[in-house]
Amino acid sequence: MIHNVIVLGSGPAGYTAALYAGRANLNPLMIDGGVGQGQEMQGAGGQLMLTTEVENYPGFEHGIQGPDLMQVMRRQVQRFNVQIVEEMAESVDLSSRPYTVTAAGQAYQCKTLIIATGASAMWLGLPEERPAHEGGLGGRGVSACATCDGFFFRGQDVAVVGGGDTAMEEAIYLTNHCSSVTVVHRRDSLRASKIMQERALKNPKIKFEWNAVVERINDPVAGAVTSLTLRDVKTQALRDLPVTGLFVAIGHRPNTSLFRGVLDTDESGYLITHKDVRTNKLGVFACGDVQDTEYRQAITAAGSGCMAAIQAERLLEAENSGLSDASESW
Ligand SMILES: Cc1cc2nc3c(=O)[nH]c(=O)nc-3n(C[C@H](O)[C@H](O)[C@H](O)COP(=O)(O)OP(=O)(O)OC[C@H]3O[C@@H](n4cnc5c(N)ncnc54)[C@H](O)[C@@H]3O)c2cc1C
Repeated sequence: MIHNVIVLGSGPAGYTAALYAGRANLNPLMIDGGVGQGQEMQGAGGQLMLTTEVENYPGFEHGIQGPDLMQVMRRQVQRFNVQIVEEMAESVDLSSRPYTVTAAGQAYQCKTLIIATGASAMWLGLPEERPAHEGGLGGRGVSACATCDGFFFRGQDVAVVGGGDTAMEEAIYLTNHCSSVTVVHRRDSLRASKIMQERALKNPKIKFEWNAVVERINDPVAGAVTSLTLRDVKTQALRDLPVTGLFVAIGHRPNTSLFRGVLDTDESGYLITHKDVRTNKLGVFACGDVQDTEYRQAITAAGSGCMAAIQAERLLEAENSGLSDASESW
C-alpha cells in the first residue's frame, strides 16, 4: 500500500499536519516517536511532555498542562482517520517516489512525507533536571525556554546557564520579568556575538558567575528550586547561588539524523525549507522545530504543520488531476 501522506513525529507540528491531512481525506499514517528516551528524545507528544503549565497556547484561557495539551491534540486527530504507528522511524529512503520509511523493521511507502521530528533542548545531564513526574525539577523551576516560562518567575532571582547568543537572549528577555538574572558560564569569556555580549554586560539586572558549572540543583525534596550549588572549574570550590529558577540555554539539537546527506540542512543540522515548508525533495515537507531556529514555540510549530499538510494536499491534487508539470511547479 502506498500512503498519501506519512507524518513523522507527534508534537504540535505533527498532530496539526495529521489533523489537516486527515480532514482532507488523505488517510495519513503517523509514526509518532513511540515511548521516547527521556529528555533527549521525548517520544509521542514531543517536547511539551516535559513541561507543566502552558499558558501561551491560544484557546486555553486558563492555561493547560503540557502533557494534557498533547493528549487533547492526539484525541482530536484520532477523530479523522489517522492511523498511528507507535514507533520511531529508523530509516528513510528518499531516493525515488514513492518514498519509504521504516519503523520497527516494517517498511511504509508514501507519496508525500511530512517531517515533524522536532528538536531537543540540550541539558546539563543533572538528575534534578528531569521532569517532575520522574522526581526532578523539570517544569518546577527548571526550564529550557525563557519565552515559554519566564512569566512564571516574575519578581524572582533566576539563573541562566550558557555563554552563547541564545543564553544572552534568554537572560535579556528574563530581565523583563525577574528581579535579577545570573548567567553561569564555565569559561571566563562569552561565546556570544559581540552585540549580544555588550547588551547583556550592560544590563544592570544581569550578573555573571564566570568559570562556574552547576553541580547540583536544590532542592528536589522541596519540589522547587531554592538554590544552585556551583563548582568553580579552576579551584573546584563549591558555592551556593540562591535562585528560584534555572534556565538551561546551552543549545538545541534538531532531530534530523535520518536526513543527513539526503535533505538540505544548515550547519547545525536544521532542515532548510522554503517559506511554504517545502524541502529540496519533491513531496517532502518539514514543519515545526526541526526547521525553526528562531521561534521554537508550540503555536508556530502547529502553524507550520498546517502549512505542510495543505502543501501536501495541493501537490497530490495537482498530480491526481494529471497536471503534467506538477513536479516542475513545485
Ligand atoms: C521545557 C519546555 C517547555 C516549553 N514550554 C513551552 C510553552 O509553554 N509554550 C510554547 O509554545 N512552547 C513551549 N516549548 C517549546 C515547544 O515545546 C516546541 O516549540 C514544540 O513542541 C515544537 O513542536 P514540534 O512538533 O516541532 O516538535 P516536538 O515537540 O519536538 O516533537 C517532535 C516529535 O517527533 C518525534 N520524533 C523524533 N524523531 C522521530 C523519528 N525518527 N520517528 C518518529 N518520530 C520522531 C518525537 O518523538 C516527538 O514526538 C517548551 C519546550 C520545552 C523543552
